[in-house]
Amino acid sequence: AKERGRNAIELFSEQINARFHRRQQLEMRLQNALAKNEFFLEYQPQVDLQTGRMLGVEALLRWRNDDLGLVMPDDFISLAEETGLIRPIGEWVLRTACQEYLSWWQPEGAELRLAVNISGQQIKHPDFVPIIDDILHSTGFDPRLLELEITETVAMEDVEGNIGTFRDLKARRLQLAIDDFGTGYSSLSYLRHFPIDRLKIDRKFIRDAAKCSDSASLVEAIMSMARSLHLDIIAEGVETEEQVAYLWKQGCRQIQGFFFGRPMSASDLQKYLQEQTVAELL
Ligand code: C2E
Ligand code: CA
Ligand code: CA
Ligand code: CA
Repeated sequence: AKERGRNAIELFSEQINARFHRRQQLEMRLQNALAKNEFFLEYQPQVDLQTGRMLGVEALLRWRNDDLGLVMPDDFISLAEETGLIRPIGEWVLRTACQEYLSWWQPEGAELRLAVNISGQQIKHPDFVPIIDDILHSTGFDPRLLELEITETVAMEDVEGNIGTFRDLKARRLQLAIDDFGTGYSSLSYLRHFPIDRLKIDRKFIRDAAKCSDSASLVEAIMSMARSLHLDIIAEGVETEEQVAYLWKQGCRQIQGFFFGRPMSASDLQKYLQEQTVAELL
């Protein structure tokens, strides 16, 4: 038949065209998203098992577009990185997170940490530290409460350069965390040169630790590495009581995950803070 005449190469190139077209559509809308005010932030609680109190939040970016609906970061961050759009978007995230924090923060309350994800494109740009200075200055945000999360992979891409930037940030008293830790297999010898505060164990190891002895060994190795380097440790993606019990047994006291709270709007977070203490959830 005629329609069977379309060969594999034609079909393949149609698929590539479709994908290319979709990417172009996404990119076009992403270009305008900041100006059209389509981004917003959600905040996920981080809790301290020892005290039963919330110790901070991680800001997570969301994009709502009229045509695309709600788009999650896994579907647009890499495109934002490839196009360079991540720099203005990342600056918006930092500034907005600081502003929103100050508008819901209770001055008499605990000093909550605000963690923000930073992309490699941002950290390696010479304007990064000046932008941080500008945001801290213009919002009046206390730098000691701001934590930047940099993935292990990004941190290891340019060890020398990052150590310099990290030192500049530590001189401003910011906190630094290595995100998705355990996925990049960094050696202890590199890690000890980074002026960092905290390792964030990747959620895939947390997910598997209770069931898979390889993941458990890795979590335990990270714990002892952190101890010997005097680094804090936080576990992400904690979903079950079993995982909480396991982490407690391993000496991990800082927890983030659906078990204690999903990412939520700033106003829901305000309610969460007012209405319930984490101790009641435990
Ligand atoms: P991430 O930094 O590892 O952030 C944690 C992700 O895990 C979030 O997904 C969060 O919703 C999800 N999560 C938290 N607790 C649990 C849990 O208990 N179980 C499971 N299954 N998932 C959990 P989200 O918000 O979709 O973000 C995905 C990734 O996108 C982030 O991973 C981060 O790499 C990136 N991202 C998000 N916001 C930003 C941003 O403002 N800037 C940059 N550069 N990247 C961002
Ligand atoms: Ca993160
Ligand atoms: Ca992570
Ligand atoms: Ca991740």
